[in-house]
Amino acid sequence: MKRTKVVDALQCTDFGKEINVRGWVRSHRSSKAVDFIALNDGSTIKNIQIVVDPTAFDAEVLKSITTGSCLNVDGVLVESQGKGQTVEVTGKHIEVYGLCPSDYPMQKKGQSFEYMRKYAHMRLRTNTFGAVFRIRHNMAIAIHKYFHDHGFFYFHTPLITASDAEGAGDMFQVTTLNLNELTRDENGNIDYKDDFFGRKTSLTVSGQLEGELGATALGAIYTFGPTFRAENSNTPRHLAEFWMIEPEVAFIDKDELMDLEEDFIKYCVNWALTHCKDDLEFLNQMIDKSLIQTLESVVKERFVRLPYTEGINILEQAVANGRQFEFPVTGWGMDLSSEHERYLVEEHFKRPVIMTDYPAEIKAFYMKKNDDGKTMQGTDVLFPRIGEIIGGSVREEDYGKLVAEIKSRGMEESAYSWYLDTRKYGSCPHGGFGLGFERLILFVTGMQNIRDVIPFPRTPKNAEF
Ligand code: ATP
Ligand code: MN
Repeated sequence: MKRTKVVDALQCTDFGKEINVRGWVRSHRSSKAVDFIALNDGSTIKNIQIVVDPTAFDAEVLKSITTGSCLNVDGVLVESQGKGQTVEVTGKHIEVYGLCPSDYPMQKKGQSFEYMRKYAHMRLRTNTFGAVFRIRHNMAIAIHKYFHDHGFFYFHTPLITASDAEGAGDMFQVTTLNLNELTRDENGNIDYKDDFFGRKTSLTVSGQLEGELGATALGAIYTFGPTFRAENSNTPRHLAEFWMIEPEVAFIDKDELMDLEEDFIKYCVNWALTHCKDDLEFLNQMIDKSLIQTLESVVKERFVRLPYTEGINILEQAVANGRQFEFPVTGWGMDLSSEHERYLVEEHFKRPVIMTDYPAEIKAFYMKKNDDGKTMQGTDVLFPRIGEIIGGSVREEDYGKLVAEIKSRGMEESAYSWYLDTRKYGSCPHGGFGLGFERLILFVTGMQNIRDVIPFPRTPKNAEF
């Protein structure tokens, strides 16, 4: 018989119809008169209940069907007598695809996320991770749909690069050199001439620089791909391998860029509210009782637009009023940590904040400086529970100023010649931003740790699965 997905079976009202469902056992309860098996096939957070007459089945086989077993069930769709579901299946024939021995690591309910991370390859079968990864899929679709509908082109930037977009190091090197036999020049430096690319290369930390080449040709592009940062930041918001969305737009100014950031992220959150209802209701119940309310309020409220200097004043005022922070508020010029960002968003304004006009020193070389020469046209979006979710800016389009900035930071100008050509030949005002995909998923799911919103997290000392 043709298989019906559980998500479709639960919608069906064709009572009395023969049906085939397949999936993994979430629970199996037996009594003398009847067995109840809750089956889930991943198509929805909801299970379908299989009602079994034990006298009609081999008792040994029935007994062996435990949580985690995989079954192929032929039966009849009936209107449910029980509470909480409208349909169930009266099991007529059950084929066991795979039994599940009692050392199944996901057997017990209510295991901690930390425990489940040790079995990251098996945790996908739990309700919570099913919900998270269905939502993750839906967010990816929303992102592509938003940009496609707004005339952006999906642009593929390289993962292997010879440049460092942030100028900050922290990159994973890519090499085919034999690490046991490295050739060195007279100064003791490694000779990359014989390396695969004939030069030193790394995994990209951002597709932005190449994205700018796309935007200054196609008008508006976005990237959506993995990025890699070898930063040793063991926080609940950092991964060594994460996915980033980086739109880049020609002829956009700071205000338009902020409008784009706000419109885009609201669209994504709203998409989750309309397309992931069941999963969000589950997470709202299990993970964060205020989840849906938080998502709804973000969609409704206008984001605050806050110059950095005002933000620092607010933080200093808070400290003067006795608010304590783990990281000290050291005044103008400081880089905000996520607790400072969250204070502004969660306690002071109680809505998302787009922070602008940061000190140039604490930001990347490509950002456009304001006329004061001190601040630059950054547009970072700060979110409740997350802190920075988007890092954006208008880019410096003046060739001379950009070269001067590169030199003053001690960066190698020759390594950026291809990038500087965007300014040399027909330069145009432009800007863009980077959204960390997993930070968006953290926000939308209410999960606490970024390791729990990517199927196979990569963090310092952890790349097992
Ligand atoms: P943070 O200060 O939080 O480390 P950043 O300033 O390094 O962020 P950007 O370089 O502006 O971040 O990157 C753009 C976006 O990518 C960030 O706003 C964030 O959402 C995401 N992001 C940055 N680093 C990581 C990481 N290690 N893991 C997951 N997401 C990240
Ligand atoms: Mn960082």
